[in-house]
Order: sequence, then C-alpha cells, then structure tokens
Amino acid sequence: MSGCQVTVVGAGIVGACIGLSLQKAGHDVVLVDRDEPGSGCSFGNSGAILSLSASTQLPGPRLLAQIPKMLLDRDAPLVVRWRHLPGLTRWFLAFLMECRQVRQEETARAMATLLADTTGAYDRLLDGSPADALIRRNGALGLSRTEAWFEGDRWRRDFNVSLGNRMQELNREKLHRLEPSITSSVARAAYYPDAYSTLDPVGLTRQIADDMVAGGGRLVRAEVTDVRIENGRPAALLTNQGEMKVDRLVVAAGAYSHRVAARMGIRVLLNTERGYHVDIDDLPNGLSRVLLHGEHALAINPRENGLRMAGNVEFSSLEAAPDYRRAQILWRKGREVLRETATGDMPEMNFWMGRRPTLPDYRPVIDRAPGLENCWFAFGHQHLGMSLAARTGEVVLDLLEGRDPGFDLRPFRADRF
Ligand SMILES: Cc1cc2nc3c(=O)[nH]c(=O)nc-3n(C[C@H](O)[C@H](O)[C@H](O)COP(=O)(O)OP(=O)(O)OC[C@H]3O[C@@H](n4cnc5c(N)ncnc54)[C@H](O)[C@@H]3O)c2cc1C
Repeated sequence: MSGCQVTVVGAGIVGACIGLSLQKAGHDVVLVDRDEPGSGCSFGNSGAILSLSASTQLPGPRLLAQIPKMLLDRDAPLVVRWRHLPGLTRWFLAFLMECRQVRQEETARAMATLLADTTGAYDRLLDGSPADALIRRNGALGLSRTEAWFEGDRWRRDFNVSLGNRMQELNREKLHRLEPSITSSVARAAYYPDAYSTLDPVGLTRQIADDMVAGGGRLVRAEVTDVRIENGRPAALLTNQGEMKVDRLVVAAGAYSHRVAARMGIRVLLNTERGYHVDIDDLPNGLSRVLLHGEHALAINPRENGLRMAGNVEFSSLEAAPDYRRAQILWRKGREVLRETATGDMPEMNFWMGRRPTLPDYRPVIDRAPGLENCWFAFGHQHLGMSLAARTGEVVLDLLEGRDPGFDLRPFRADRF
C-alpha cells in the first residue's frame, strides 16, 4: 500500500508507537497532542513491559471477594471516590459482570493474543534507535508477603502458564540470590523471565516520538476540541490552533479518548483508574529489575540512582484533584521490601498521579471506529499501556493497510458495551 496521510491524536506511549510504526512503513504521519509527548499517563508509570504473565486481568472472583473489605480500609490499594463518580453506574455494573470466572478466563485468553508478542514488538520497533538503551531485558518478579497470598494467587499464575507464560516459583533463598536487596518481608516470589522494563517511561515515549520525527513524521502541539465529519468520514480536526485536515485518523488519546469519540457521535464506555507514584532520587540501591507486589498493588522500579514506587487504583473523575496521600501509602507499604528503604527517615520524594484508560472488561479498544471508513481507535490499555503499545502499533498498521493481524480482534471491538 502506498503511503497515506495519517493523523494520530495522542502522543502517549500508545500514540507514539503507532506513529513510529506507521512512519516506518512509509506513511506520512502527524502526531497531535496538546502537551509534550508522554505527559499523560505514560509519564510516570512503573515501566514494566509484561507479556503473558499479565494475561489475567483485575476483574475476577478474587477481587470481588476483597472489595467490601477494601471499601472500609482507607489504606486499601483500591478506593472509590463516589462523589466524583455520578453517571458511572453503567461502567461499574458492567465491571461487576466481568468479575465472573467465565468472563475473567475469556478476557485472559483474548489478552494473551495481544500480550504474546509485546517484547518482540519493542525489539522490532526500537531496532537501531537510541531508545533501545532505555529497555532492560531481565524479567520481572511478582512478590508475595505471605504464603497465603502466594497460594491465593496460584489460580492466576497457573492460568497464565496454561496460556504459554514462562514462570518460575522462588522461595526466599532463591529470591535472595536473584535480588539480594529484598528483605525477609517477602515470603515467596514468581519470576517472569520474558518481561522487559524501562527505567524511564517518559524518556522512552519521547525518544519514540523523536524517532518518528527524524524519519519524516510531524509532531503538532494542539488540543483537539471537535471533529468535522463530511460524507460519513472525519474530514478535519478542530483544534485550539485552528483546523487540521485529515485523510485517515487514529484516536489514541488515552483516558480522554471517549471525549474525542463522542465528537464523532460514538459512545465508548471508558473510565479512568487513577494511580500514583513516589520517586525517590539519590537512593543508590542494589535492585536490578522491576518488582510487582500484588498484595499492595504496587510496583518498584530501580531508576538511575533512585527508585520509583508506583501503583494504586483510585476510581475518580478525570478532573478531580490528586490525593497524594495515596502516594504516601505506596511508600509506607513499599519501603519494607528493600534493605535500602526499610529503615531510616522518610527521604525526599516527588509525587505524581496518572489516569489509566480502562473499559469494564480491562481489554483495550483496537478497532475501526464504528461507522467510519477512515478512522481507527486504539485506547483503553488500562494497567498495560507500556506493555502493549508497540504491539498495538503493529496491529493498527495491519488494520490501516487492510491486513488480517493474525488473531481474533473481536474481543477488542469499540462497540462491545
Ligand atoms: C501508577 C501507574 C503505574 C503503571 N504501571 C504500568 C506498567 O508498569 N506497565 C504498563 O504496561 N502500564 C502501566 N501503567 C499503565 C500505562 O501507564 C497506561 O496504560 C499508558 O500510559 C496509556 O498510554 P496512552 O498513550 O493510551 O495514554 P496517555 O499516556 O495518557 O496519552 C494520551 C495522550 O493524549 C493526549 N490527549 C488527550 N486528549 C487530547 C485532545 N483532546 N487533544 C490533544 N491531545 C489529547 C494527552 O495529552 C496525552 O498525552 C501504569 C499506570 C499508572 C497510573
């Protein structure tokens, strides 16, 4: 297919990877964002790039059983700020339906088709790019504080293994050999050798956008306020910088994508799950890979001369002010895991809040926009946008060029709710 003019709205990790994938394939790409690339949710996430170990999603019978206790616990890893959520009843009802075992298994099978090649997709996308230096290829560790939690999580691990995930269970001694910094607060661990991670999510996103520009793509700083439809096709974006004509359009605007879709008359049941991080600079530590602490819903990522602790799920509106007490909880819970943080005073920290884009079944939307010939959607990557972005770029390229991506895309349809 000869090069098309494609406009991508959103320069988070998903939009940036789509932009570079399309540009490398010879398309004329314009990436539009109201902000610097990577300033949204892709800015401060935990940086884990997971593959099949992440197939099973949050909604499931185990979470459902934990919700009543969590709602009473101010420090719980999941909170709902009800007064900010009028009108989201439909999302929550759909979410509750997704907590049935049968739905959790269906979603895991669907997610596995996307997750099977996440790391390979980054290898292909970043081949020859300086961004490759920001990728660590040394796996991830899933930590459990107690034997009971580890056993309670066994179904999930086994199901992921049945979908092809490679995993090794570790006792304290083996864990200590792999990561001597981890304290005895951790009873058991699972090692996922195929995972990657990045020490700098925003740096990675920006370098990918820069690669796209270096290859001839364009980056435009503008806020999309409306979409003009002509003859059943998006013909122009109306922005705070004026009108931009479009030939083909991809919407990858993260947690704001439903607002862009609504301007084209399309309703998508997208909600935001907010999460937080604390960054601690000047904290030399011996950690070499990303840690995922399921019980506390946090991840710890070693950064250059420091650490990031990130996680938490807060259901609230897009606009509500951040509640940085949620970030302090991450530190209180996470500090016990490492020797370098387990004792001593509270160090200086930076806090951040990000908005994960999430549909009730925790599957992204990767689809042609319903009823529109020249428009595609790629959003709703929830806790896995860093992991899925490069693969999403490849799938969008297939769709745009009219190729079968090689797996069933129906679970990711835009009109499923
Ligand atoms: C605490 C936390 C930890 C996480 N950890 C991980 C992890 O370890 N691994 C992982 O895989 N994922 C992780 N995630 C999830 C991941 O960060 C997200 O899924 C991902 O960043 C979403 O990327 P995106 O490009 O879709 O959205 P974003 O990064 O939010 O980008 C969307 C872009 O669209 C732009 N935009 C929106 N509306 C408009 C408009 N009208 N006009 C112009 N521009 C617009 C925004 O400015 C923004 O730049 C984590 C998330 C959080 C909050």
